[in-house]
Parts: sequence; structure tokens; C-alpha cells
Amino acid sequence: MIFSNPSGAPELACDQCGCRWFDRMANVCYECGAAVTPENLAEIEAALAAFAARNATASAINPVPGQPPQP
Ligand SMILES: [Zn+2]
Repeated sequence: MIFSNPSGAPELACDQCGCRWFDRMANVCYECGAAVTPENLAEIEAALAAFAARNATASAINPVPGQPPQP
């Protein structure tokens, strides 16, 4: 699933448990171990591209997209 953080930036969240922490080496959820699927990656890429396009027009207002939380 795609989650929007408080600054409006999309973040990938686990389909199984909804958490947003992933092991980026293995591409699995930290909480439940669910794998990140190619569909998930395509989804977040599209959401990030849409967010970047939106943000480009509003860059003076919100220049720094939110960063995902670090474990
Ligand atoms: Zn999970």
C-alpha cells in the first residue's frame, strides 16, 4: 500500500501489516517479513513521480520531501 506522510510525500507501506520499515537490502518488511513485490515498487515509483511533479510547482513552499523513518 502507499502511505502519505504528514508532509504529503508518499511512502511505501507493508501490504500485510501497514508498517513503513523495510530491510532495503533484502526488500522485506522489518515487522512481518513480507516481501516487497515488483507491483509495490512500481506503485511507490509512480506515487513518488506524481509527488515530485506536484512538488516541482510548489518547491518554494515545500522544498524538502519527507524522509522515510529510519529504524
Ligand atoms: Zn509488514
